[in-house]
Amino acid sequence: MIVQPRKNLMQPSIYAQPTQDLTCDLDEVLRRLTKLHQAIWVFDIDHNRVLWANAEALNFWNADSLELLVDRDMGKDMSVSVAKRLQQYQADFKKDEACEFQEVWTLYPNGEPLTIDVVFSGIRLNDGRMAMFCEAIQETPLDAQGLRSAEALLHTSVMITLYAGNGEPLYRNPAARTSATSANQTLEQRFGKQATLKFTDGLDNDEVKIVELVGTINGPCWHDITARRCLDAVSGDPAWLISEVDVSRLKSTEEHAQFLAEHDTLTQLPNRNFVSTDFQKRINKLLADGHTGALLFLDLDRFKDVNDTLGHAAGDELLIQVSKRLIEVVGDSSSVARLGGDEFLLLLGQKSENEIKQLASQLSSIIGLPIELLGRKVTVTPSIGISLFPQNGRDIGDLMRSADLAMYHAKDSGRNSSAFFCQELSDAIETRISLEEELSIALAEDQFVTYFQPRVDTRSNVIVGAEALVRWEHPEKGLISPAIFIPACEASGIIGQVGKIVFAQAALARKIWLSQGYDLQVSVNLSPLQFGEESLVDDLLQILRDIDCTADGIELEITESFLLGNDNSTIAKLHALVEAGFRIAIDDFGTGYSNLAYLHRYPIGCLKIDRSFIKAIDSAQPIVELIVQMAHLFKLDVVAEGVETQQQLDALRALECYEYQGFFFERPIDFPSFTELLTKSVKLSA
Ligand code: C2E
Ligand code: CA
Ligand code: CA
Repeated sequence: MIVQPRKNLMQPSIYAQPTQDLTCDLDEVLRRLTKLHQAIWVFDIDHNRVLWANAEALNFWNADSLELLVDRDMGKDMSVSVAKRLQQYQADFKKDEACEFQEVWTLYPNGEPLTIDVVFSGIRLNDGRMAMFCEAIQETPLDAQGLRSAEALLHTSVMITLYAGNGEPLYRNPAARTSATSANQTLEQRFGKQATLKFTDGLDNDEVKIVELVGTINGPCWHDITARRCLDAVSGDPAWLISEVDVSRLKSTEEHAQFLAEHDTLTQLPNRNFVSTDFQKRINKLLADGHTGALLFLDLDRFKDVNDTLGHAAGDELLIQVSKRLIEVVGDSSSVARLGGDEFLLLLGQKSENEIKQLASQLSSIIGLPIELLGRKVTVTPSIGISLFPQNGRDIGDLMRSADLAMYHAKDSGRNSSAFFCQELSDAIETRISLEEELSIALAEDQFVTYFQPRVDTRSNVIVGAEALVRWEHPEKGLISPAIFIPACEASGIIGQVGKIVFAQAALARKIWLSQGYDLQVSVNLSPLQFGEESLVDDLLQILRDIDCTADGIELEITESFLLGNDNSTIAKLHALVEAGFRIAIDDFGTGYSNLAYLHRYPIGCLKIDRSFIKAIDSAQPIVELIVQMAHLFKLDVVAEGVETQQQLDALRALECYEYQGFFFERPIDFPSFTELLTKSVKLSA
């Protein structure tokens, strides 16, 4: 190696303590040195000037006199890396006045390269500053390759250090020296215990490569380190050659990329990726420490409305505001994650069930405070589902699913509420899921059959119509009531298809009965979801065309409550249906808002009085009477549902209600039975 501590060299004794002598009487020492046959000069690093040079050095610098040499600005031809190195030496001399270095230098006194071996040390000037005392030992007859490799070692930004077996530094190249915290920073001081062990363990193999945080003059930095066992060229003792490249920038880019992969760009909150690793670790830790806690799944109610009405930018702003409020309540941004859309997940550790309940209600009220968006005050509420650990599980995936289910339950029970997960909830949902799966099979295998219940004239007891009521002929469970499976059809989105099957069977029945001479009003129930389908009118008319019959004599039943919640588009659709030839009946009338005044706004043909009023006809008689009178006034037909007794029928007759349906006359029956009943034409008069 080119640079060695001075002790290893056999040199004249004049170099033994140069700085002390010179500090005493610099001029005297310099005068004595003037005649030496070795080039010696003093270089002022602060001003890039030679301060003094002996005759040999003047010759060497190609200067006619000391004055001319002193006037030269050496800094103007100096490369940045050399200037930096000189600064480092200056710093080293200040720290330790006794330190010395030896290097091979290439100088350019006449523009021609001159390679020399230089020993240099600090020298304190009379004005108290440090300068560099330089001594050319000899011209080094290096071959070109050797010269270049030495130059490369000096100029490279790769930090190269040779450590002795005990971890003491033997040599550092300039880059390593600039980075070291001190001239004698040891292996362990620089790399820490762990990494040093990795070197020692791994060094029996050729090479150890690691990326580690290293102690540098600028604080801890990430370095890519290669360590190799070798022999010290001078002593022949085992040594370690370690090269380091600063990868801090790469590392921070990597860390940034990692951050992006685990965080949501809009709110800066942790995302789903982060949750699956970090939340799980924290749950494990909490459980190991004997703590309990909860996961809260939070979904905003009607967030879509904000997006649709105020635009996506406002929606984004709302999400940012909500995330800030969540952090405010939870008090820790790493425990609040955004799973996507308007879904958030919160991890609450070390909390009792009661505290969690309180926190959930606090969340609801704080999120429910108005938020200003585009100059408008907007209010959103959350639905919150809660799962507890370890009660509901230990795995983040299980706990999230449970909290999610609880959240849906909270939404079902009227939004802006929270619900804890429980086993019954899970069972109910499991049943619903398997029901929905079975329903799609039922659809594919034609298991839906339409039954018909007669509508009868109260005065003549003649069948004047029929209500189509769907049944599910389950291959194992037998007939299943629509009260059970219609809500499941609505939830799974197949209600439209089921509704069309019933409609087609009802239309076909009407056509057949008509051909047999029975002009019956056949009514079909429409689910609000089916009513909402854009293509409803076209679809129904297409079915009629396929069957080759008209809408005439077909009644569509919709519920009163559905009518009330809707707007102009509902009215437009009702008109379209009426124009197509259908008649509209209001089903379960009286159970909604019972505001008879709105009836004239809709093109309605018939009211069906809900069976709860008929069941309690004694006490509900005034209401039934009112409904019947109103219907007459608006020229609407009126049908009493759920008539089970003679007494109920008598009461209806007295109130001038002219049509009824009910078990008293007949239950819903299949098409052949109904047709047979028709042929008997009139049932025994009551
Ligand atoms: P809904 O439209 O009010 O139908 C009348 C229900 O009352 C029928 O129940 C019928 O069997 C029952 N009912 C008739 N007379 C009596 C009686 O004297 N006493 C009692 N206690 N009940 C009587 P069902 O068939 O179980 O249908 C239940 C509900 O399912 C229907 O109520 C309707 O809302 C819905 N539904 C039935 N079929 C369809 C359909 O094809 N599409 C749609 N969307 N909903 C349907
Ligand atoms: Ca009905
Ligand atoms: Ca009804």
